[in-house]
Amino acid sequence: MAHNSRLNTVYLLLGSNEGNRLDWFDKAMTLLSADGCRLVEQSAVYETAAWGKEDQPDFLNMALCIATTRPPLALLELTQSIEAQLGRQRTVLWGQRTLDIDILLYNNEVVDTPALRVPHPQLQNRRFALVPLADIAATIVHPTLHKSVAALLADCPDTLPVREYKF
Ligand code: AMP
Repeated sequence: MAHNSRLNTVYLLLGSNEGNRLDWFDKAMTLLSADGCRLVEQSAVYETAAWGKEDQPDFLNMALCIATTRPPLALLELTQSIEAQLGRQRTVLWGQRTLDIDILLYNNEVVDTPALRVPHPQLQNRRFALVPLADIAATIVHPTLHKSVAALLADCPDTLPVREYKF
């Protein structure tokens, strides 16, 4: 499939629970833009208690809509390189990995490779992903579950509270 110069609409989820969490989001957005990804829309920022391990700080999450010419695996290379670039800083400052970037949706496409699965296989099970995504993509229909993001959120079995983070 030729993605070459076509602009693809992609939804990403940023997550952080260490260090200056909002700062990692800003830096990630700067690096995405520097690569040529256009930031189309961003959700509010949400806070979620770390699940299972209560000795961890709470997570912040936000969803982004970007327009990119990168095919799916090349986009994963970019998001992983951004995680690594920011991770290196974090290693010095905080000693922990602090930024995750998940590819939630890529156009209406299904990608199923060892390195990348899109739509993200856990999307429908995670309130912390669906709540921010619903801010900017409520009516987008999941390509294999055939439900809108709003419907996935309404039906999500996850009960973990996700609250808007005011800053
Ligand atoms: P994690 O440690 O949870 O951030 O998982 C990262 C791993 O998940 C990487 O090795 C990726 O290759 C893989 N992966 C599979 N599907 C996705 C996706 N949709 N978005 C981001 N990473 C993915």
